[in-house]
Amino acid sequence: MFRDDTIAAICTPAGRGGIGVVRLSGPDSLEIASQIFRSQSSVALNAPNRAQFGRVVDRVTGEHIDEAIFTYFKAPRSYTGEDVVELSCHGSPVILSRALEMIVESGARIAEPGEFTFRAFFNKRIDLAQAQAVRDCINAQTEYQARVAAKQLEGELSRRLSPHKEALVEIIVHLESSVEFVEEDISPETGAAIAAKIERLIEELSAIARSFAFGRYVKEGFDLAIVGRPNVGKSSVFNRLVGSDRAIVTALPGTTRDALYETISISGVPVRLIDTAGIRETNDVVETLGIARSRAAIADADISLLVLDASEPLTDDDIKLLNQTPGERRIIVFNKTDLLGAIKPGFLEPDEQMEMLPVSALTGEGFDDLAAKIFLRLSGDQASERDDVMITDARQHAAVKKSIEYLFAARDLMIEREFEEVVLLKLRGALDALGEITGETLTDDILGEIFSTFCIGK
Ligand code: GDP
Repeated sequence: MFRDDTIAAICTPAGRGGIGVVRLSGPDSLEIASQIFRSQSSVALNAPNRAQFGRVVDRVTGEHIDEAIFTYFKAPRSYTGEDVVELSCHGSPVILSRALEMIVESGARIAEPGEFTFRAFFNKRIDLAQAQAVRDCINAQTEYQARVAAKQLEGELSRRLSPHKEALVEIIVHLESSVEFVEEDISPETGAAIAAKIERLIEELSAIARSFAFGRYVKEGFDLAIVGRPNVGKSSVFNRLVGSDRAIVTALPGTTRDALYETISISGVPVRLIDTAGIRETNDVVETLGIARSRAAIADADISLLVLDASEPLTDDDIKLLNQTPGERRIIVFNKTDLLGAIKPGFLEPDEQMEMLPVSALTGEGFDDLAAKIFLRLSGDQASERDDVMITDARQHAAVKKSIEYLFAARDLMIEREFEEVVLLKLRGALDALGEITGETLTDDILGEIFSTFCIGK
């Protein structure tokens, strides 16, 4: 995958801005960038880590194109570990494209998405978990996501895994040396001690794997479908959560026929709200289609927010929905509690009453509790450890789980007093799986897949 040429790209987002940056990385960066830049300072262009003011010019005609700042980062002390030049021009798409064009004419190649970061990984400036964190940092929608990504970017995940990898290597070395040098078999005591060490590793890695239950929501967000029969106040609850009047609210039952989506942040976790069509028995063809979509939304959502109307007795449609939404994947809200004569939820089973939250979409009462309840659902028992390092990536999670499976197999074989060679095979499998997280043991196509999800210029 790696090519030893010089790459270039516009690193700032498309559109106009105060400045726009064209970046080059590779052995000819300095030479190529120098061809289109005339410095106005007395410092030589090849002086590293100096921002130099000057002009971008047409390399053939000498025509003045823009004023710019030229910064040279000498290998290996750069983002990619190679020679890097950053040209900060004015943020005009026309100027930036022209500069890039000239750079390509001078021998650079336009970078693939994520290629700068790939080079940083290839040159061991960062490991794969950190490279992925670069992408997560850029993609963060909330401050909390950015903070989690920043921790991973500093190498926290890799650091947390490293003592476990070392412990594993120690066990492997122990077994390998007994295979090579010891005549007789490992004693039952030593075997039991090794099995116990493996057991401990399993426990520690399992704790890391469990962090994904919350971590995946931190990265991917959480789907919350707002459901209920028509007119209970679903759209009003949706709007109250969103804090705007995007969904159309009417007093006629059955008007929200299509699902509406909006993403909000609950304690820094993106929550995608889906306002679904009201579910009831009906012969209306269009409404039936909407209802089918609502059911699909309920099935896909991480949890459903089942809205009941406190101003009316429960209807058959409500009861059906109560029966159809599984308790562990639902929150019940009892809306319109502001109305005089609001009904006390005595009709619900005691555990359903516990689950149920009184709110009023009209006054906003109960919505802080609702947000807290939603957060508790998505964070599970990890709410208190939320600043801890966590696994946010499905691929990393799969790798830790694979490692744990190998370790279980190794432990069992050890207890069964199998040949050391057989146990070693499993232990090496466990180590390789952990290496996939930091990128030591990965094939080119998987790497290609990961880096292709980056944006161009990163
Ligand atoms: P949906 O069909 O379930 O989406 O319900 P809507 O959000 O369209 O609301 C139906 C009706 O109930 C509208 O007239 C709303 O103004 C009213 N409504 C919704 N929530 C409340 C509430 O908390 N209190 C009161 N008093 N009326 C509400």
